[in-house]
Amino acid sequence: MRRAHSATPRPRGGSGRPEPEQLGFEGMPERLFVCTPSKLGAFEDCPRRYRFSYVDRPAPPKGPPWAHNSLGASVHTALRNWFGLPADRRHPEALPTLLKGTWVREGYRDEAQERTAYRRALEWLESYVETLDPAFEPLGVERVVAVKTSVLAFNGRADRIDSRTGPEGPELAIVDYKTGRTGLDSDDARGSQALALYAFAAERVFRRPCRRVELHHLPSGTVAAHEHTPESLARQVSRAEDTARDIVAAERAVAAGGDPDAAFPTAPGPICTWCDFRKSCPAGVEAPAKEPWAAVDRVLAPSGGEAAVVTASEQ
Ligand code: SF4
Repeated sequence: MRRAHSATPRPRGGSGRPEPEQLGFEGMPERLFVCTPSKLGAFEDCPRRYRFSYVDRPAPPKGPPWAHNSLGASVHTALRNWFGLPADRRHPEALPTLLKGTWVREGYRDEAQERTAYRRALEWLESYVETLDPAFEPLGVERVVAVKTSVLAFNGRADRIDSRTGPEGPELAIVDYKTGRTGLDSDDARGSQALALYAFAAERVFRRPCRRVELHHLPSGTVAAHEHTPESLARQVSRAEDTARDIVAAERAVAAGGDPDAAFPTAPGPICTWCDFRKSCPAGVEAPAKEPWAAVDRVLAPSGGEAAVVTASEQ
């Protein structure tokens, strides 16, 4: 699942500072915090990165495109288009055309690396579709689901929503494709706030239980799954609401004239290496630099080595 970005920049106040999302006046209900998984995840990963992505306008310049993002986007779109074909045309022979049509070229070291990546992606797709019944129709492919709580107006695009029959009748499952790091397990599926929010939203949109979340890792052909409970989904929603409150508090502090650097502190760590704003960030410039193709190089290594892809846009 690619984390979607907030749809529109927020309006600015007369001071040039962005207005916070919630601006309740006394006696008036507060506005809901409009968010996507990427927006919440950006703040949880690093408040300064959130500020660079969603608050500062103009935003600081980003680094060059990452090849691993190009690879992930290409595979995701090819799979979306696979399900867009009529069932009787879903043959593996269709995959090269689908992948070529969606191939994103940015970030690779050179044409040789790009060609290797294309061949590897095609192998992943061929192996993956072998596991699918050609007649299988997901309930949703790159489907937007939205839900409101007393704090959040959440929306996001799930890679796939499957309709299945569980022990207690019809149910839904959230499927998220992964092309990055290896070694995903059920803890990754359990801990993913994005997957939990998709499940929470899908259950309400389609009025069917949606507790199962799955990470489909195409390079290894493995599935990491977790069965949520209503309580575990509620905990993830509550955590998202806490994050939203923290974001609103930080935005309000800035709107009131506070120091933006204090309201949105840096949270340096291994993610800085892969951060788009590394060069604009006082903490990030200390982090070791990686070439845009470094993570793909590791994915393509003969050993199928682990890719240390830790950016918010991990595919
Ligand atoms: S470089 Fe590191 S500290 Fe700076 S914004 Fe990015 S993730 Fe945050």
